[in-house]
Amino acid sequence: MNSRTLSWIFLGTLLCAAQTESPQQAQFRSCRANLKSLARALEFYAADHPEQPGPPLEKLVPGYLKTMPTCPAANSDTYSQVEWAGERFTLCCRGNHHTAVHIGPDRPAYAFPGGEISGLPPTPAEKILARHQQVFDQKKAVADRIAAEQDESVALLEAYRKTKSKNLPREALIELVNQGVTTTPPEKFPILITPPITAEERQILEGEKSPEGPTYLKVVEELDKRLPDSEFEAYCESNQFMLRKNRWLRGKVGKFQTLNG
Ligand SMILES: [Zn+2]
Repeated sequence: MNSRTLSWIFLGTLLCAAQTESPQQAQFRSCRANLKSLARALEFYAADHPEQPGPPLEKLVPGYLKTMPTCPAANSDTYSQVEWAGERFTLCCRGNHHTAVHIGPDRPAYAFPGGEISGLPPTPAEKILARHQQVFDQKKAVADRIAAEQDESVALLEAYRKTKSKNLPREALIELVNQGVTTTPPEKFPILITPPITAEERQILEGEKSPEGPTYLKVVEELDKRLPDSEFEAYCESNQFMLRKNRWLRGKVGKFQTLNG
């Protein structure tokens, strides 16, 4: 066997080691997933039963959870001591069961509201997901603002109509608005582009499983599909006229209100 063959074997072993999860890592991941489903079930239970503050976990079975999960590393109940503060709660894997994967006591933990309290530095896959999440959140904020403007559109036109003579025909009113919009500069939308997944990132994302089970690659791909760049851009552009109209109407109605108020 020459040295080149040896180095190939060595490289192969290294790559396999990076891809395969140790049993302790798998236990930790499944413990996180348990806490997440417990937290979600508890949140639903609490919302359905406001008359029972701070319910014990046993109440969740079987209506909200089929069975009561246990931490595979502890093999005993580590979840039932839930800390309640009004409607807020914190759930954790009580004790020191994940030291093999360098996790401190009473971790993993979940809080409501707030989500996971990991106390861990983000993993490479979590960092990539965070970048995609950030772009998605920014797009969502723009889309939500446009939707709110759509809701307000009718009320603004109505407010503007009131500043005019009652005898003004509807067509003439629309004509005035359309003329106004032509002089209103276009809305400037932020340029939000979903980061492309490089070959290296794809490997990282494929090699790490999310707390829910699927790989991070699947999680990132699903997230990116929710508001693709082209659809986002088309949505912004198709609402350009409405946004300019609202801005113009707001200016007119505002002026009128100042004069009369
Ligand atoms: Zn655990």
